[in-house]
Amino acid sequence: MKKSALISGALAALLLAGACTNRYKNSGFEELDFWAQKTVESKTNSFGYPVNMNIRLQEFYDWYLANDLDAVGLNEVGNPFGEDSALLGAFQFERDVVSFFAGLYEMPADNIWGIVTNSGTDGNNHGIYFGVNYLKNKTGVLPVMYVSDEAHYSNPRIADLQHIELRLVKSDPMGRMIPEEFEKALDTTRPAIVVYAMGSTFKGAIDDMDALNAVLDKYPQMPSYVHVDAALFGGYLPFTEHKDLVNYNLHRFNSIAISGHKFFGMDDPAGVFLTTKEVYDGQSQFKVAYLNEDMKMINCSRSAIDVLKFWWLIKKVGSEQWSKDAPEMLANTAYFKEQLDRIGWPCWVNDYSNTIFFKRPNQDICKKYMLANNYDEQFGGDLSHIVVMQHVTPPVIDRFIADLLASQD
Ligand SMILES: *Cc1c(COP(=O)(O)O)cnc(C)c1O
Repeated sequence: MKKSALISGALAALLLAGACTNRYKNSGFEELDFWAQKTVESKTNSFGYPVNMNIRLQEFYDWYLANDLDAVGLNEVGNPFGEDSALLGAFQFERDVVSFFAGLYEMPADNIWGIVTNSGTDGNNHGIYFGVNYLKNKTGVLPVMYVSDEAHYSNPRIADLQHIELRLVKSDPMGRMIPEEFEKALDTTRPAIVVYAMGSTFKGAIDDMDALNAVLDKYPQMPSYVHVDAALFGGYLPFTEHKDLVNYNLHRFNSIAISGHKFFGMDDPAGVFLTTKEVYDGQSQFKVAYLNEDMKMINCSRSAIDVLKFWWLIKKVGSEQWSKDAPEMLANTAYFKEQLDRIGWPCWVNDYSNTIFFKRPNQDICKKYMLANNYDEQFGGDLSHIVVMQHVTPPVIDRFIADLLASQD
């Protein structure tokens, strides 16, 4: 190659690098770039919602762009365990993701079915829909759904959406479904679909699956289906010494939903839904000729990019890092609680939980730290909570405590 060609090649590379940086930094829309900068700056103050802000996907995006996948219309249509789709998707990687999660809960690898969902809510929607149809097809009777009054709102919302009779069961003050109240609420003449909160939204309580299953066992003539809403806790518990709490073999359940953007550090909403083959096979058929498939899941299109990102995280971050993250989050939760106790700020935390609820600070603090608020007379009225995710570390906690003290002056 001639020297001039080499030089112009190098120059072109330099110019290209410059152009790339420009492309990233300046969209040409001032308000958009301003928003981008502000959003990135405020991420470490995100305390109120369970989103892991230690996102490790930069290499994924580099790989994705370098392979021109940004110019391909990917779509995860159909059953990842069924026939290959004619659309461009990533079924083989989706099956890997599903298997990884089955392993976390020790579900039998040869008896599982699952998908990567759009979110935890999408997983609950599938769990409830599959449960209702499984029971209806088996018994010919529409089931009644039971869930605690502290569980995530998506569950009663889905009951409403699917026109299922719902009975909200009272919780104890710390947020766990009361087994005696559950028994009182039961209509034992109809099948039961029960949703257990594996982490109630505000107080971070875990329903006592064994005590509630024991109630179901008292009525063997009443067919039942258990769905576990484990959006947040189902993510981190398997990586702690408390992993038995979500062990399929120790607690009977029929399906489970987890969020991908909470513990696992997906950068947009995603999740996983897992059930058994028996439940999947017990669904009504829904043949769609042009997809060459029996479409049992609710959505037609799903995100293949989420599948790839999830797979990437499992390979690149994986159990090794998550086994460090999860105990650290619980240790940081304990540290946070100690600091609040030290300054005499009323606060509460459930066992195994990374969610601290406490007397609500003033508006400025709530806004700065994006706190989630609630009201509960049993704990003196106005409350806020903090979910201690990977980015909520002792230095940030100390800063919060200092701000909280200063706000009282
Ligand atoms: C976050 C959460 C949900 C909702 O999940 P999305 O992924 O936000 O749809 C449902 N249930 C529980 C227990 C949650 O923590």
